[in-house]
Amino acid sequence: MDYVFAPMPVQSLPVADETRRFALRRIFCVGRNYADHIREMGFQPEREPPFFFTKPVDALVQDGETVAYPPLTENFHHEAELVIAIGKAGANVAVERALDHVYGYAVGNDLTRRDLQFALRDRGRPWDWSKGFDRSAVVGTITRMLGQALPGSARISLTVNGEARQDAALDTMIWNVPEIIAALSASVTIQPGDLVFTGTPAGVGPLKPGDRCAVMVQGLTPITTLIGPKA
Ligand code: MN
Repeated sequence: MDYVFAPMPVQSLPVADETRRFALRRIFCVGRNYADHIREMGFQPEREPPFFFTKPVDALVQDGETVAYPPLTENFHHEAELVIAIGKAGANVAVERALDHVYGYAVGNDLTRRDLQFALRDRGRPWDWSKGFDRSAVVGTITRMLGQALPGSARISLTVNGEARQDAALDTMIWNVPEIIAALSASVTIQPGDLVFTGTPAGVGPLKPGDRCAVMVQGLTPITTLIGPKA
């Protein structure tokens, strides 16, 4: 096949103890999945069905890279997240079968232009420009855990320049991994290569040029991101 310009390169992530990489297809994200974070965003937590937004797959940032402070924001935020790597296609997946679609897990940072998000939210507009900008999806090495869940007691945490900002147990998610997969697959057919960011706990906050932001989930490979000067 001939193209008028070179096709986009395949975006991929390393897999622990595996020479082959995980080729990405799409990036889905869950909004408002930890009660304390919903409160800090100015809402009352309710167990309403999970809702999703997306990031372009070429917004991917690898562990250890520098992210330039993005345009159109004065309030650029970190969000520590567990990321599900989907390994098997499915539609209308039952909660009881949902873990069958898990290839593994990684640590993520859902970088957010918070001021823009609030402005869009208040006007009833889509979140895209606050979430799906260039270099907004930091994801680390995938740990292969076919069909498995992480322990609910595992901590997800984030530091900025070594100072603790976010820390919670995974079982404080409102919607757990099987429920998220079931809900997502009720709306779209999930495919191998899809990633799902599962929401962030309380403690989100601003990043500034020169910051070093690290995210950890117990049992997974941590990630570090350096924030560079304004692009
Ligand atoms: Mn998020």
